[in-house]
Amino acid sequence: MKIVFATHNKNKLKEVQKLLPKSITLLSLEDINCLEDIPETADTIEGNAIQKADYVTKKYDLACFSDDTGLLVNALNGAPGIYSARYAGEQRDSEDNMDKLLSNLRESTDRSAQFKTAIALNISGEQHIFKGIVEGEITIDKRGGKGFGYDPIFMPKGYQQTFAELPMDIKNSIGHRGKAVEQLVQYLKTKHSSSF
Ligand code: IMP
Repeated sequence: MKIVFATHNKNKLKEVQKLLPKSITLLSLEDINCLEDIPETADTIEGNAIQKADYVTKKYDLACFSDDTGLLVNALNGAPGIYSARYAGEQRDSEDNMDKLLSNLRESTDRSAQFKTAIALNISGEQHIFKGIVEGEITIDKRGGKGFGYDPIFMPKGYQQTFAELPMDIKNSIGHRGKAVEQLVQYLKTKHSSSF
């Protein structure tokens, strides 16, 4: 069976494909000729994941899952949250986003934050939501050159290094996206193995 991963990001697609049995083929949005930007206008991370998966399932009548991630900072009442990608503006620049966050937190002693990923899966007429959360704190300065997005300023609980300093396999095993993807993969392997 084929299933659409509603993403334009080839790296994400490859990462998830590697975790799935060979009998499950993932299709990207390009593969189904969905070239437009799918609306993401919900007010929660879960809502955005659902909106993207529903768009594909309704328009193409295909099994589909989609992911959405946000960084939620407690002292900023959950910001940047659903605005994580464009916190400092529509240019969606990670350096600008981190600079804005560090500046907004300059006076704050509470630097606790969490990354949250939601995956919405539409399959066989049902919808399933998988969530992954990692708690941590925002550092004072940017540290490390690995990863992407806010990785240089996020230090997961129990570690003294940021996500941009930690080896990628550690980030994947303790991180938000890895945890959500693991649940999705387990679900597909057990509940739907007979259909693949
Ligand atoms: P998306 O929903 O995966 O596109 O993520 C939205 C935004 O959250 C990205 O543009 C990044 O700024 C940020 N983000 C998502 N995942 C990560 C991560 O693993 N590390 C750091 N930043 C992330």
